[in-house]
Amino acid sequence: MSAPVYDSNNIFARILREEIPCKKVYEDEFALAFHDIAPKAPVHILVIPKGPYVSIIDFSANANAQEIKGFYAAVAAVAAQENLDQAGFRLIANTGANGGQEVPHFHVHMLGGKRIGPMVAD
Ligand code: 5GP
Repeated sequence: MSAPVYDSNNIFARILREEIPCKKVYEDEFALAFHDIAPKAPVHILVIPKGPYVSIIDFSANANAQEIKGFYAAVAAVAAQENLDQAGFRLIANTGANGGQEVPHFHVHMLGGKRIGPMVAD
């Protein structure tokens, strides 16, 4: 599958280039994690891969195995670091228009710090 066009000026690309600040939680060679600017839970962290992938579809098709493993290892590292792993958390990857994806750089939301409500809003 050919990669979709990636907008290198999307807000998360600019955060990766440190053109705009973020409240960093975790970083390694594969991923960056930072607090969401508009948190929907007591803990609301975004984890993004460092590569230019539009969505989970693009990431799954076009990232290499090391990048994919590194990304999910980073999610697990954040869960352990932020004490989300024992109490639990919700992982969300909004994808495309129907998924409500606003920023076209693949990311997952980690929501926790309390019991998260219904899986899908009415
Ligand atoms: P999406 O709807 O694309 O899954 O989620 C994008 C998320 O990025 C939203 O929850 C929004 O609050 C967050 N966001 C948008 N702009 C910024 C920003 O400049 N900094 C941070 N930390 N989060 C942002």
